[in-house]
Amino acid sequence: MNDIISCDYLIIGGGAAGCIVAKRLAERTQGKVILLEAGRNDEADEAALYLDCLDQQDEHYDWGYVAKTVEYGGGFSIDYARAKMLGGCANHNDCAFLAPLAGDLERWRTAGADNWSARWMERCLQRLDKQIRVESSPVGTDLSQAFIDAAKRMGIAEKDFRQNPGSGTGWFPLNVEGRLRQSSSVCYLHPLNQLPENLQVITNCHVQSLVVDNNKVSAANTDLGRIRVRGETILSAGSVNTPQILMLSGIGPAQHLRDMDIDVVHDLTGVGANLMDHAAANITFELYQESPAWNLTPCESTLLMRLGQQCGDPDILFHFVLRLREKYVSGNSFKHVAHGVKIAPNVARPRSRGSVKLKSPQIGVAPEINLNYFSDPEDYDMRTMLGALRIAREIGNSDSLKPYFKREITPGLEVMSDRNLESYIRETCETVYHPAGTCKMGRAKDADSVVTPDLKVKGIDGLRIADASVFPDMVSVNICNTVMMIGEAAADLISGEYKLG
Ligand SMILES: Cc1cc2nc3c(=O)[nH]c(=O)nc-3n(C[C@H](O)[C@H](O)[C@H](O)COP(=O)(O)OP(=O)(O)OC[C@H]3O[C@@H](n4cnc5c(N)ncnc54)[C@H](O)[C@@H]3O)c2cc1C
Repeated sequence: MNDIISCDYLIIGGGAAGCIVAKRLAERTQGKVILLEAGRNDEADEAALYLDCLDQQDEHYDWGYVAKTVEYGGGFSIDYARAKMLGGCANHNDCAFLAPLAGDLERWRTAGADNWSARWMERCLQRLDKQIRVESSPVGTDLSQAFIDAAKRMGIAEKDFRQNPGSGTGWFPLNVEGRLRQSSSVCYLHPLNQLPENLQVITNCHVQSLVVDNNKVSAANTDLGRIRVRGETILSAGSVNTPQILMLSGIGPAQHLRDMDIDVVHDLTGVGANLMDHAAANITFELYQESPAWNLTPCESTLLMRLGQQCGDPDILFHFVLRLREKYVSGNSFKHVAHGVKIAPNVARPRSRGSVKLKSPQIGVAPEINLNYFSDPEDYDMRTMLGALRIAREIGNSDSLKPYFKREITPGLEVMSDRNLESYIRETCETVYHPAGTCKMGRAKDADSVVTPDLKVKGIDGLRIADASVFPDMVSVNICNTVMMIGEAAADLISGEYKLG
């Protein structure tokens, strides 16, 4: 492959984290920085830039992945949207923008994010807040207000989540200005013709593999040619594609690489393992009337709560969604309704772990994504979801929502026992698209970790990872804000602005 260009810092993937790493490194170093993005330029693309315009599975903006919900025992495949454009998934997500909870970051430190101090994380979040505009109390519909009122009737406090993170109910803060998304491409890179001189953004450039010479990454092979790197390469291709690129480069679990006929460069068992996601189950309701017209997004309000009376971080994250796009299955019969809504709880900190594996040594072949929902040996995830569905049902039957809700569609009032509800959850579970942890951060001696707390890939020089794949544990809230925080943190570590311990 011909060399086409060279640089000091190469960032692969212009998504939520990658755009931030690229911009900050260009600002803070003299080195030449190149950001490569496989997808299209979002700058003049209204569908990408304005909230609720894009079909998330549109093949022009998405990798078109599918994922298996459960590895064994009746799993099925679901569409697993992963954006392919500058801005990444932050340009086709729902813009719910919640900061990680202090308890989440505390758990990260326990899990091996040594010296990721609360004070440093706070600084990274403050820098984000200066860059990204957030609508903290968007004007919502009466129906979403009724959901909030129903939660309040259960004794949950209403709050502004920007001021006061943690358990409570209220409006989702949204990273939008007007309808314009505040993704990291919009807020850090646009306008592209005014970038720092030492930063080059190349879109429609698909990275196929890394070149490792004498244990150091020296270049990336792309469909446009080979790009040489004098300094560091930073993988920011997201929780599915970052492990895929590593494995295609011979870095990953040795046996799996041999099975794929790939020469092993470095045996690293954690690559593609530990996949975490916020699985969703739905209780759906038919409305007496058409769903009210929402202003910004159909998912306006939320509830974060802890099951039972114990104090501590919430263990369920609810989304109240003002539309039903899917067909709902109950038993074997499809039920269609004209007007419906859903209350969709997620297990906030799931214990089940899935995987991303290669299906082929070819870059063009989608990897195998196995979400492995509800598989943890203690059955914590299923027990939590059962409790969450019962609460969702209670909310749906509350006096606040009764005037709007004609009937429960799914699972339906005939599905009452834990056993039947559990089958319903396994048969109909969905995702809110929060994959994380597939190259998790941990201590050097933790065999499952892929990067050490400085985000360096273990055993390979000149290579770091900065995206959702490094999460050592799941955060209790929607993850984009945390991923962007990782972008800021990575830039601190690489530029030497922050030194770990
Ligand atoms: C439909 C949907 C709704 C969501 N809603 C919310 C929400 O409301 N709130 C929230 O907090 N989170 C939400 N999320 C999750 C959130 O957007 C993601 O977790 C976050 O964007 C992940 O950031 P990332 O940097 O890890 O990866 P991404 O943002 O996915 O960026 C990765 C980038 O790398 C590029 N890339 C991949 N492979 C290559 C390659 N080989 N060569 C070059 N480039 C490559 C991709 O095209 C992509 O642009 C949602 C996600 C989806 C999909």
